[in-house]
Amino acid sequence: MIFSLEALVLSKEKIGEIDLLVELLTPKGKIWSIAKGAQKSRRRFVNLLEEFNFIKAHLRKTSKGKFLILEKADLKFLPESIRNDYRKYILVSYMGEILSKIGFPGLSVDYFSFIKNLLKEIEKNEVLFLLKPFFELKILKFSGWAPELFHCVKCGYKPKKLFYLSIYEGGIVCFKCKNGDSEILDFKALEILRELISMSVDFKKLQKIEGDLKKMINVREKILKISERFLKFFLPFEINSLKFLKETI
Ligand SMILES: [Zn+2]
Repeated sequence: MIFSLEALVLSKEKIGEIDLLVELLTPKGKIWSIAKGAQKSRRRFVNLLEEFNFIKAHLRKTSKGKFLILEKADLKFLPESIRNDYRKYILVSYMGEILSKIGFPGLSVDYFSFIKNLLKEIEKNEVLFLLKPFFELKILKFSGWAPELFHCVKCGYKPKKLFYLSIYEGGIVCFKCKNGDSEILDFKALEILRELISMSVDFKKLQKIEGDLKKMINVREKILKISERFLKFFLPFEINSLKFLKETI
Protein backbone atom coordinates (compact mmCIF):
# COMPACT_ATOMS: atom_id res chain seq x y z
CA MET A 1 0.00 0.00 0.00
CA ILE A 2 1.35 3.39 -0.93
CA PHE A 3 0.54 6.50 1.09
CA SER A 4 1.72 10.08 0.76
CA LEU A 5 2.94 12.52 3.37
CA GLU A 6 4.44 15.96 3.34
CA ALA A 7 7.95 15.75 4.74
CA LEU A 8 11.08 17.67 5.57
CA VAL A 9 14.30 15.88 4.64
CA LEU A 10 16.42 15.88 7.79
CA SER A 11 19.30 13.68 6.78
CA LYS A 12 20.39 10.91 4.49
CA GLU A 13 22.89 8.13 4.78
CA LYS A 14 24.26 5.67 2.29
CA ILE A 15 23.33 2.09 2.89
CA GLY A 16 25.25 -0.46 0.91
CA GLU A 17 26.26 0.46 -2.59
CA ILE A 18 23.04 1.69 -4.06
CA ASP A 19 20.39 2.73 -1.55
CA LEU A 20 19.91 5.73 0.68
CA LEU A 21 18.41 5.81 4.15
CA VAL A 22 16.45 9.04 4.43
CA GLU A 23 15.28 10.61 7.67
CA LEU A 24 12.02 12.48 7.22
CA LEU A 25 10.12 14.73 9.55
CA THR A 26 6.41 14.51 8.81
CA PRO A 27 3.14 15.58 10.44
CA LYS A 28 2.94 12.00 11.70
CA GLY A 29 6.34 11.96 13.30
CA LYS A 30 9.81 11.05 12.23
CA ILE A 31 10.15 8.40 9.57
CA TRP A 32 13.15 6.49 8.32
CA SER A 33 12.72 5.39 4.76
CA ILE A 34 14.80 3.68 2.14
CA ALA A 35 15.19 5.23 -1.28
CA LYS A 36 16.08 2.25 -3.44
CA GLY A 37 18.79 2.82 -5.97
CA ALA A 38 19.06 6.52 -5.08
CA GLN A 39 22.86 6.42 -4.97
CA LYS A 40 23.13 4.91 -8.42
CA SER A 41 20.33 6.32 -10.45
CA ARG A 42 19.92 9.97 -9.64
CA ARG A 43 17.14 10.28 -12.15
CA ARG A 44 14.36 9.06 -9.95
CA PHE A 45 15.03 11.46 -7.10
CA VAL A 46 17.13 14.06 -8.96
CA ASN A 47 18.14 16.37 -6.08
CA LEU A 48 14.95 15.89 -4.19
CA LEU A 49 16.53 14.28 -1.18
CA GLU A 50 18.79 17.16 -0.20
CA GLU A 51 18.65 18.26 3.43
CA PHE A 52 15.93 20.79 4.30
CA ASN A 53 13.89 20.20 1.17
CA PHE A 54 10.18 19.85 1.70
CA ILE A 55 8.81 17.03 -0.37
CA LYS A 56 5.68 15.03 -0.87
CA ALA A 57 6.89 11.56 0.03
CA HIS A 58 5.16 8.57 -1.47
CA LEU A 59 5.89 5.72 0.88
CA ARG A 60 5.25 2.02 0.86
CA LYS A 61 5.01 -0.32 3.82
CA THR A 62 6.71 -3.65 3.46
CA SER A 63 5.73 -6.76 5.33
CA LYS A 64 9.16 -7.61 6.68
CA GLY A 65 11.39 -4.53 6.70
CA LYS A 66 11.29 -2.10 9.57
CA PHE A 67 11.82 0.83 7.24
CA LEU A 68 9.36 2.23 4.76
CA ILE A 69 10.27 2.37 1.11
CA LEU A 70 10.37 5.81 -0.44
CA GLU A 71 8.88 5.10 -3.83
CA LYS A 72 8.76 8.58 -5.20
CA ALA A 73 9.08 12.18 -4.09
CA ASP A 74 7.73 15.46 -5.44
CA LEU A 75 9.40 18.72 -4.55
CA LYS A 76 7.23 21.11 -2.54
CA PHE A 77 9.73 23.69 -1.39
CA LEU A 78 13.41 24.16 -2.06
CA PRO A 79 15.31 26.30 0.47
CA GLU A 80 17.54 28.12 -1.96
CA SER A 81 18.70 31.12 0.04
CA ILE A 82 19.21 28.88 3.07
CA ARG A 83 21.73 26.89 1.06
CA ASN A 84 23.49 29.91 -0.35
CA ASP A 85 23.66 32.12 2.71
CA TYR A 86 26.24 30.87 5.18
CA ARG A 87 24.55 32.31 8.28
CA LYS A 88 21.18 30.89 7.32
CA TYR A 89 22.71 27.55 6.49
CA ILE A 90 24.50 27.28 9.85
CA LEU A 91 21.36 28.27 11.71
CA VAL A 92 19.18 25.77 9.88
CA SER A 93 21.83 23.07 10.28
CA TYR A 94 21.70 23.66 14.01
CA MET A 95 17.92 23.32 13.93
CA GLY A 96 18.14 20.22 11.76
CA GLU A 97 20.63 18.57 14.10
CA ILE A 98 18.36 19.13 17.10
CA LEU A 99 15.29 17.87 15.23
CA SER A 100 17.23 14.83 14.18
CA LYS A 101 18.46 13.98 17.68
CA ILE A 102 15.29 14.63 19.55
CA GLY A 103 12.48 12.17 20.10
CA PHE A 104 9.00 13.67 20.15
CA PRO A 105 6.55 11.64 22.18
CA GLY A 106 3.69 14.02 21.46
CA LEU A 107 4.59 14.79 17.92
CA SER A 108 1.79 16.56 16.14
CA VAL A 109 0.70 18.39 13.08
CA ASP A 110 1.20 21.70 14.92
CA TYR A 111 4.80 20.96 15.49
CA PHE A 112 5.41 20.07 11.85
CA SER A 113 3.69 23.19 10.59
CA PHE A 114 5.72 25.30 13.02
CA ILE A 115 8.95 23.97 11.52
CA LYS A 116 7.63 24.45 8.00
CA ASN A 117 6.57 28.05 8.60
CA LEU A 118 9.82 28.84 10.32
CA LEU A 119 11.99 27.53 7.48
CA LYS A 120 9.89 29.33 4.88
CA GLU A 121 10.28 32.60 6.74
CA ILE A 122 14.02 32.10 7.19
CA GLU A 123 14.22 31.50 3.45
CA LYS A 124 12.55 34.87 2.74
CA ASN A 125 14.04 37.07 5.46
CA GLU A 126 17.29 38.17 6.99
CA VAL A 127 18.74 36.08 9.80
CA LEU A 128 17.83 37.37 13.26
CA PHE A 129 19.80 36.46 16.36
CA LEU A 130 16.47 35.89 18.14
CA LEU A 131 15.74 32.93 15.88
CA LYS A 132 18.04 30.75 17.95
CA PRO A 133 16.37 31.33 21.34
CA PHE A 134 12.94 31.35 19.66
CA PHE A 135 13.55 27.94 18.11
CA GLU A 136 15.08 26.53 21.32
CA LEU A 137 12.21 27.65 23.51
CA LYS A 138 9.57 26.39 21.08
CA ILE A 139 11.30 23.04 20.76
CA LEU A 140 11.40 22.70 24.54
CA LYS A 141 7.71 23.48 24.57
CA PHE A 142 6.90 20.91 21.89
CA SER A 143 8.95 18.32 23.78
CA GLY A 144 7.02 18.95 26.97
CA TRP A 145 9.94 20.72 28.67
CA ALA A 146 8.78 24.30 28.42
CA PRO A 147 10.42 26.41 31.12
CA GLU A 148 7.88 27.92 33.51
CA LEU A 149 8.24 31.66 33.02
CA PHE A 150 5.08 33.01 34.59
CA HIS A 151 4.74 31.45 38.04
CA CYS A 152 7.25 30.41 40.66
CA VAL A 153 8.02 26.76 39.87
CA LYS A 154 8.11 25.92 43.55
CA CYS A 155 5.09 27.62 45.09
CA GLY A 156 3.01 28.84 42.15
CA TYR A 157 3.13 32.49 43.22
CA LYS A 158 3.27 35.04 40.42
CA PRO A 159 6.16 37.38 41.29
CA LYS A 160 5.61 41.02 40.40
CA LYS A 161 8.90 42.76 40.94
CA LEU A 162 11.70 40.43 41.83
CA PHE A 163 12.42 37.49 39.60
CA TYR A 164 14.91 34.71 40.02
CA LEU A 165 15.69 31.98 37.58
CA SER A 166 16.62 28.39 38.25
CA ILE A 167 17.50 26.25 35.24
CA TYR A 168 17.65 23.23 37.52
CA GLU A 169 14.11 23.80 38.83
CA GLY A 170 12.85 24.54 35.31
CA GLY A 171 11.85 28.19 35.42
CA ILE A 172 11.44 31.25 37.56
CA VAL A 173 11.30 31.22 41.33
CA CYS A 174 10.05 33.87 43.71
CA PHE A 175 12.05 35.71 46.36
CA LYS A 176 10.91 33.31 49.07
CA CYS A 177 11.76 30.16 47.14
CA LYS A 178 15.10 31.20 45.69
CA ASN A 179 18.13 29.22 46.76
CA GLY A 180 21.73 28.62 45.74
CA ASP A 181 20.74 27.47 42.25
CA SER A 182 18.85 30.63 41.40
CA GLU A 183 20.08 33.84 39.91
CA ILE A 184 18.40 37.19 39.64
CA LEU A 185 16.70 37.83 36.32
CA ASP A 186 15.84 41.26 35.01
CA PHE A 187 12.30 41.87 33.92
CA LYS A 188 13.08 42.90 30.35
CA ALA A 189 14.84 39.60 29.62
CA LEU A 190 11.99 37.68 31.24
CA GLU A 191 9.41 39.60 29.26
CA ILE A 192 11.11 38.69 25.99
CA LEU A 193 11.56 35.05 26.95
CA ARG A 194 7.84 34.94 27.74
CA GLU A 195 7.02 36.49 24.42
CA LEU A 196 9.24 34.10 22.47
CA ILE A 197 7.83 30.99 24.05
CA SER A 198 4.22 32.07 23.50
CA MET A 199 4.34 33.53 19.99
CA SER A 200 3.89 31.82 16.66
CA VAL A 201 6.22 32.28 13.69
CA ASP A 202 5.96 36.04 13.22
CA PHE A 203 9.00 37.68 11.66
CA LYS A 204 7.67 41.21 11.95
CA LYS A 205 7.34 40.80 15.67
CA LEU A 206 10.76 39.18 15.99
CA GLN A 207 12.31 42.03 14.01
CA LYS A 208 10.66 44.56 16.26
CA ILE A 209 11.89 42.89 19.46
CA GLU A 210 15.34 42.56 17.93
CA GLY A 211 15.32 46.27 17.08
CA ASP A 212 14.36 47.16 20.65
CA LEU A 213 17.24 45.06 21.91
CA LYS A 214 19.89 46.77 19.80
CA LYS A 215 21.04 48.93 22.67
CA MET A 216 20.45 46.39 25.38
CA ILE A 217 23.45 44.15 24.84
CA ASN A 218 23.26 42.62 28.31
CA VAL A 219 19.62 41.64 27.94
CA ARG A 220 20.32 40.18 24.53
CA GLU A 221 23.22 38.09 25.85
CA LYS A 222 21.13 36.95 28.79
CA ILE A 223 18.31 35.73 26.54
CA LEU A 224 20.71 33.78 24.34
CA LYS A 225 22.37 32.21 27.35
CA ILE A 226 19.21 31.28 29.21
CA SER A 227 17.44 29.55 26.35
CA GLU A 228 20.57 27.61 25.43
CA ARG A 229 21.10 26.52 29.03
CA PHE A 230 17.51 25.30 29.26
CA LEU A 231 17.88 23.41 26.00
CA LYS A 232 21.10 21.74 27.11
CA PHE A 233 19.70 20.90 30.51
CA PHE A 234 16.55 19.21 29.25
CA LEU A 235 17.91 17.79 26.00
CA PRO A 236 21.37 16.76 27.06
CA PHE A 237 23.07 15.65 23.90
CA GLU A 238 26.11 16.97 22.11
CA ILE A 239 25.19 19.51 19.43
CA ASN A 240 28.03 19.57 16.93
CA SER A 241 26.80 22.53 14.89
CA LEU A 242 26.50 24.80 17.95
CA LYS A 243 30.11 25.89 17.83
CA PHE A 244 29.76 27.05 14.18
CA LEU A 245 26.53 28.82 14.97
CA LYS A 246 28.12 30.71 17.84
CA GLU A 247 30.81 32.00 15.52
CA THR A 248 28.19 33.53 13.23
CA ILE A 249 25.87 35.14 15.78
ZN1 LIG B 1 7.85 30.59 45.26
